[in-house]
Amino acid sequence: MNINRQWLLSKRPEGMVTRENFEYAETPIPEAGAGEVLVRNLFLSFDPTQRGWMVDRPSYLPPVAIGAPMRAGSVGQVMASQHSDFEVGDIVQTTGGWQDFVVAAPGQGPMGLTKLPAGVPPEMMLSVLGITGLTAYFGLLDLGMPKPGETVLISGAAGATGSVAGQIAKIKGCRVVGIAGGPEKCAWLKEEAGFDAVIDYKAGDVDGQIKASCPDKFDVFFDNVGGDILEAALNHMNLKARIVLCGGISGYNATEPAPGPANLMNLITLRARMEGFIVLDYMPRAGEAIEQLLAWIQAGDLKFQVDLQEGFDQIPETLQRLFTGQNLGKQLLKIADPI
Ligand code: NAP
Repeated sequence: MNINRQWLLSKRPEGMVTRENFEYAETPIPEAGAGEVLVRNLFLSFDPTQRGWMVDRPSYLPPVAIGAPMRAGSVGQVMASQHSDFEVGDIVQTTGGWQDFVVAAPGQGPMGLTKLPAGVPPEMMLSVLGITGLTAYFGLLDLGMPKPGETVLISGAAGATGSVAGQIAKIKGCRVVGIAGGPEKCAWLKEEAGFDAVIDYKAGDVDGQIKASCPDKFDVFFDNVGGDILEAALNHMNLKARIVLCGGISGYNATEPAPGPANLMNLITLRARMEGFIVLDYMPRAGEAIEQLLAWIQAGDLKFQVDLQEGFDQIPETLQRLFTGQNLGKQLLKIADPI
């Protein structure tokens, strides 16, 4: 291969992100300079936050520029190295973007450049041991502070982040209730992930379903969805509840700002706390989380699912899968095999 295939951001989305927001391009393979390596992407990570990166507004990372390759986390293989810590053939994690090749260096970009720990496959590094696993770990434990016997409610529960957050809450001795879309995802949560109760929000009356599934109300709500589900949950808090604002995917493709929950004042009467976070702030502590998550996986206490798509041409549609709920577990796409 002597070209670098790319998907460039060509048009900022209004409403649902589609293939029309991107343009296919072929460019020469870039060269690594001093202190850099040339990486060939093998697996791309798909994350709801990519929809936010497409919008021209201030956020925790700058927006992707029009005409630039779409930003994405990746695992790839080092093809050329001008950095003494990396050798040709190393499997690395970086922010490779929607393209075959990227020039990367440690400390550059949101994910820097790191070698995969020995024995850890790319699919695991980009899911349960990657951004979504770390988000679940730090969001639930640092902000949610679950205690044994408490009830933990999770929205987006069958997804990459929610399913890990719920299982960690189980490991910590909590009663865990998950909210997800459809019978297949709900069955996986109960039968495989060990959730105590599940709510299919697509079946309607989320408020009533939360009431029925949380007879002791909840102490921690780990929210990935926002909107109506957040508002319904705020009716079922215990005194001193902690609400972890992890994401608000129900509004990511909205054309108008969603109205805020009408019942925020419940936070006052119940002396509850609602707090947002960005996982990138926790990267200095990533090692601690990876070690613990790996130990739970090896002990059989933590299950994870990967939804692996294939083909460079399928990249734009694969992003959309997150917003239509087609993904079963962490959404990844494979574009090449290691050499
Ligand atoms: P994911 O949960 O694996 O996939 C997204 C899921 O969201 C879909 O499968 C779908 O599940 C659900 N969804 C989509 N549209 C929805 C809607 N309108 N209403 C309700 N549910 C909807 O994705 P993820 O990567 O783990 O991300 C989950 C959340 O965590 C996102 O909000 C993301 O932004 C957030 N996040 C935050 C941080 C941070 O640092 N704060 C880091 C990573 C991720 P159903 O089929 O169940 O609807």
